[in-house]
Amino acid sequence: MKSILFLTSLFGFVVISNSLPSYKLQHKQLQYNLFHGTNNDISKSCSICKTAVSFLQGFWTFPFGEDILSKLSEFVCEKFHLSSPRICHAIIPEFKHMVWKVFFDGSVDPNIICGQMFGESCVGSHSFFSSWNITLSQPLSKDNDDDIQVNDIQQVNGIQEEDAFQVTDNPLRIVQLTDTHIDREYLAGSLAECDEPLCCRKHNRKAGNNETAAPKFGYAGYCDTNILMFHTLLQGIQDNHKDVKYVYWTGDIPAHDVWNQNKNTQIDAISYATATLKKYLPDKRIFPTLGNHEGFPVDSFPHPSMTGEDSDIWLRSTLAEKWGTWLPKDTEETILRGGFYTTMVEGNLRLISLNMNYGNPSNWWLWIKSEDPAGQLQWFADTLAKAEEAGEKVHVIGHLPPCHTLKWFSFNYYRIINRFYKTITGQFFGHTHHDEFRLFYDMETFTKPISIAYVAPSVTTYHELNPGYRIYSIDGQQGNKTWHVVDHDTYYADLVEANKIDKLEFQHEYNARKAYELKKMSPANWNRLLYRFLEDDELFQLFYKSYYKQKKNGICVGKCKQDYLCTMASGMAKGLYNFCKFDNVQETHDHLTWRSKTYNKC
Ligand SMILES: [Zn+2]
Ligand SMILES: [Zn+2]
Repeated sequence: MKSILFLTSLFGFVVISNSLPSYKLQHKQLQYNLFHGTNNDISKSCSICKTAVSFLQGFWTFPFGEDILSKLSEFVCEKFHLSSPRICHAIIPEFKHMVWKVFFDGSVDPNIICGQMFGESCVGSHSFFSSWNITLSQPLSKDNDDDIQVNDIQQVNGIQEEDAFQVTDNPLRIVQLTDTHIDREYLAGSLAECDEPLCCRKHNRKAGNNETAAPKFGYAGYCDTNILMFHTLLQGIQDNHKDVKYVYWTGDIPAHDVWNQNKNTQIDAISYATATLKKYLPDKRIFPTLGNHEGFPVDSFPHPSMTGEDSDIWLRSTLAEKWGTWLPKDTEETILRGGFYTTMVEGNLRLISLNMNYGNPSNWWLWIKSEDPAGQLQWFADTLAKAEEAGEKVHVIGHLPPCHTLKWFSFNYYRIINRFYKTITGQFFGHTHHDEFRLFYDMETFTKPISIAYVAPSVTTYHELNPGYRIYSIDGQQGNKTWHVVDHDTYYADLVEANKIDKLEFQHEYNARKAYELKKMSPANWNRLLYRFLEDDELFQLFYKSYYKQKKNGICVGKCKQDYLCTMASGMAKGLYNFCKFDNVQETHDHLTWRSKTYNKC
C-alpha cells in the first residue's frame, strides 16, 4: 500500500508540478516536504524513488493499470490539496496515458524518472539524455571558413561597427505576435484573484464587494487574453501600422486552463485564432510556429514515429490545414512530418519555422527518445547549407528560446548558429512572456558575439504582465539587402489605465536603438550593452521595466541585476558552458550563490 501511495503521489506531483505553472513553487515545496520530511537527505529519497519505480516497472501489467493509478493519484491530489478537487479530477486523467507510457512501461530508466523528481544529484553517473550530434556541412569558401578566428575576437570595448546593420530609410516592417493565450471563457466581473491557476473566467464565481473583479479589457494577474483585448490589438495593428507587411506568429494560442483541454479544444483554439488573424489582418502574410500549449496534453509532442493513440498526427494535420491559409503547398510535407517548415518570404529572404517542442524539457515523450525527433535539426542545417549556396539569407522563428531546450538540442542549435551565422540574419522566439534577448558567441573562445535571438513580449497578461507586441525594422527595401534587424519598436497597453478610462489603446513603449543608445543593432553592440548596464544603472532599470512590460514596481540591483545579465548572455541550455562573466561588478558575500543560481537558470 505504501508503494502505491508513493507512486500515486509521484504521478500526481509530476503532473501537477509540471503542468500548472502558477502552482509550481508551492507544490515543489509540498513535494519536497512529503518525500523528504524535514531533513534534506536527497540521496535517501532518491534511492527509495529508484527502488519503487523499478518495482512498479517490473509489475506494470498487474495489478496497477493506468486507470487504477490515475484514480489513486486523483485521490492523493485531492487529499494532499495539490490543487482544487475540480482540477485534480480533470488534469490527472488528461495525463494518465502519457505518464504511464513514459514513466512506467519500463522504457525509461528509473535514474531519469527520479532525477527529474529530485534533481541532477539523483541521476548519479547517468546522464539525463545521451549526447548526439547532427552533421554540419563544410563552409563553402575561405570567406566563410575564417569567420571566427581568435585574432578576430571583438572585445567589449572598441568594437567595429558592421555595415550589415546600417539603418535604412525605408525598412521592411514585421510584427511579432507571441503567446496570445486567448481565453474565450474570460468573463468581466468574475473573480480575478481566485485559488486556481487561471482566473477571470466564467467558471469562477462573481467577485464580491471586497474582491477584485475581472475588468473589461483584461487583468494583469493570473488571467489570459480576452476576446475584446485580442480584437482591439489586431485592429490597432491594422489601423496604425499600415507599413507592416508580415507577421511572425510564435505560438501558444490556447489559454492556460490546461486541465480543461482535449484534442478538440486545441483544434478549436487554433482554428479560431487563424480565422481571427485572417479577418483582422487580411493583407498581411502570417508565418506561424508551434507553441508548447498547442499540444494535448500541454507540452506533449510525441516522436512522429509513434502511432495510434500515442500519435499527435491530429495536431500536425490541423497545422498543415490552418497554416496553409498563408503558406504554399510545398510546406505541407515537413509540417505533417514534424510541425516545421521553410518557405521564401520575398526576394532572397527565406524563413525557417522550427518546432522547438522537440527539445522541450517538459515534453516527456523525449524521455523515451530525444535524439533529433523527425530529423528536424539535421533538416535545419541542410536547409541552411542550401540557402548559403543559393546566396539566401534566413530568418528563424520558433517558440521556446534555444536555451530553454534540452542540453543536446540546444548544443546542436548553438553549433548550427556558429556554422551559419552569416546566413541567419534574424532569430525570433517567445514563450517566456518577457521582453528579452539571448546572445550567441563563437564556440572557440565564447568571447565574440556572433548572433542574437530576440525574445518578444507576450500578448497575454499571464502572469502579472501588461499585454504587448513588437515591430521589427528589417534592412530589406534597399538594393543591397542584408535582411538584418536594424531596429525594433515595442508596444504595450497599460491595463489599469485602460480599464479606468474605459478605452484600450496600445501605445509605443520604446524604440530599441533610442532607448539603449545603440548606433547599430549588431550582436556586438547588444553584447556591449550588457557591460554598459553594469556601469549605467539607470539604463539597466529601463531594460528591467521593459522586461515586465512596465508592470513590475521596484528596481533590480546587485545579484538580481547580475542574474539578468548572465541570462541574456546565455544562448545555450544550462550545464554546458558558464556564460556568467560579469565579474567586475560589486561583489557580495554570496557571489558563488548567485553565480551558480544564474548558471542553472538558462
Ligand atoms: Zn506562453
Ligand atoms: Zn510557451
